[in-house]
Amino acid sequence: MSGPRALITGGAGFIGSALVRLAVTELGWAVTVLDKLTYAASPEALAELDGHAGYAFVQGDLADRQAVRALLRDVRPTLVINMAAESHVDRSIDAPSQFIDTNIGGVFVLLEEIRGLAAGQEAPRLLQVSTDEVFGSLGTGGAFTEASPYRPNSPYSASKAAADHLVRAWGKTYGLAVLISHSSNNYGPHQHPEKLIPRMVLSAMAGRPLPVYGDGLHVRDWLHVSDHARALALCAATGEPGGRYVFGGRSERTNLDVVRAVCRRLDAIRPGRDHAALITHVEDRPGHDRRYAIDPAETERALGWAPRIAFETGLAETVDWYAENEAWWRPRIDADGLDARQGRG
Ligand code: NAD
Repeated sequence: MSGPRALITGGAGFIGSALVRLAVTELGWAVTVLDKLTYAASPEALAELDGHAGYAFVQGDLADRQAVRALLRDVRPTLVINMAAESHVDRSIDAPSQFIDTNIGGVFVLLEEIRGLAAGQEAPRLLQVSTDEVFGSLGTGGAFTEASPYRPNSPYSASKAAADHLVRAWGKTYGLAVLISHSSNNYGPHQHPEKLIPRMVLSAMAGRPLPVYGDGLHVRDWLHVSDHARALALCAATGEPGGRYVFGGRSERTNLDVVRAVCRRLDAIRPGRDHAALITHVEDRPGHDRRYAIDPAETERALGWAPRIAFETGLAETVDWYAENEAWWRPRIDADGLDARQGRG
């Protein structure tokens, strides 16, 4: 194995599993995944790696100091990529406690255990995978950059912002080689049905109402999960320690546009129903950020990265994936219900 030895936390999640597959099968990394396997995990997305010499899986909690210490000692990673998180905004509003424990407490444990590595073991580079939501909401113009100030508005984004501050401080104070990346909204296969796009696909296929928050004109910049995975691998391996990177898809869409695009694709592959007629406007959620947008020009130049998948193509493939993979999503909606939450957008 000639590539880096990586510890990827949260590697069984939606984005984590895309990164792990890329790293092991295309980039030749040796990857160990640490994942608690919460409701959000998708271990099926890693099944193809079972038995691969460059892949190992450990079930455990990022906030478990002994587990993290043992892994750092045994794996001796050259890179750590932290993707373990509670990631759903609506859940953070209903029950913020686990967001504090994992998103802040877990990061604290990771930083302390890297800092405390025994003499003679080189400290790995650490990429903290953050979100554009830490920057708060934009008006109709402008875009987030590497220099945007922090203005989190939800318990989720506040917990991610707090983690970023710890990561920065451990870099400045203790000299750890840390990087932070901020991505816009991701979409693609294996995303939990509580999130906007899968939620709309599954509800529309079932002929159920498509609940859109408020006027539906909230704007997000959509990035395909495989483009994000490539960006993370490049950033972790080649980014500047102390650096901050922003990943966007150059694909700003209102939530209503996204839901209508889902409906158009379903009209094409499942004719016989006017899916857009199912769109229903529901009361907005508290603190709902109006617009996120990323100006990725500086990051694209610094890393030699650019998104490759056009939103319309990626979205059609994503809708098709959900239409063809009921065995994956059915237990997830049975366990959790589709109606409880609208889906992050
Ligand atoms: P996800 O919810 O799909 O996956 C999170 C994974 O972390 C799951 O496999 C879960 O089991 C694991 N996990 C949760 N708590 C853990 C703990 N205490 N210890 C170990 N593992 C734990 O999330 P995602 O959408 O793949 O997001 C991954 C990362 O990217 C998160 O840090 C998130 O904040 C960030 N992010 C996501 C998006 C997006 O659009 N999904 C955008 C920007 C940034």
